[in-house]
Amino acid sequence: MMRRTVYGPIDSWRFGRSAGIDANCGSYCSFNCIYCQLRPVRNIITGRRKFVETGRVVKDLREVMGNRNFDMINISGTGEPTLASNLRDIITAARNFAECYGREVGVLTNSSLISDPGVRRDLSEADVVSLKLDAPNPEVFRRINLPHPGVDFDRMLDGMRVFRKEYGGKLYLQMMFLEQNRNHAKEMRELAETIKPDLIHLNTPTRLHGEGLLLSKEEMEKIKGVFEGMKLRMVYDSKKTGVKPVDREETLERRPGG
Ligand code: SF4
Repeated sequence: MMRRTVYGPIDSWRFGRSAGIDANCGSYCSFNCIYCQLRPVRNIITGRRKFVETGRVVKDLREVMGNRNFDMINISGTGEPTLASNLRDIITAARNFAECYGREVGVLTNSSLISDPGVRRDLSEADVVSLKLDAPNPEVFRRINLPHPGVDFDRMLDGMRVFRKEYGGKLYLQMMFLEQNRNHAKEMRELAETIKPDLIHLNTPTRLHGEGLLLSKEEMEKIKGVFEGMKLRMVYDSKKTGVKPVDREETLERRPGG
């Protein structure tokens, strides 16, 4: 049976009751992060292509989320959503649907393609864009995110800064802290200051595949202290909404942590 492109709503500490759109349905990502729930990512690519028809997303949105309670629609799923060449159309379709419920649409990206002006143009259609930055330098980047060789750390950072200047929506920055970068919080803060997000999400891998990498509440409190004065939320400070997904199995397959 063909998998649906829409799942959830998920109980997200960052976005509340979050309805998800899987823009690439099938383990396609430009990274292979050591904490990813999808590990190993089957297809590590950087080329954009159409994975699902936009019409199918619209149909699934109506069937799965019609008359459901959700706080936001997030385009994420089983991999990196900016790899979808029809991302702009998917965002527009999702916004048309979300508007009927007075809700917003976000895209959760790993930032790998943000130096591409076409990707930035697509993302600019979203109400919210959440970028990912887990490393202070190329070496730690390679150790944590295991990127496709075509992804250059410094070019990615430049793209994030350019996007901040161009983008009029809400820009979030997610930073995943784990053993490999726990001592780099100060440098990560310095980088965050140059990107100027509206909000920083300080995370640690609490899900499957995060075992052994997870930082304790006390350790995350210390890291939070390093970011003092910046607008942020930390995973251990969040409350659960208690929402139940429509199709639990479909939802569990898509919680990559991106
Ligand atoms: S966590 Fe996100 S960015 Fe990292 S490999 Fe998984 S889907 Fe890709």
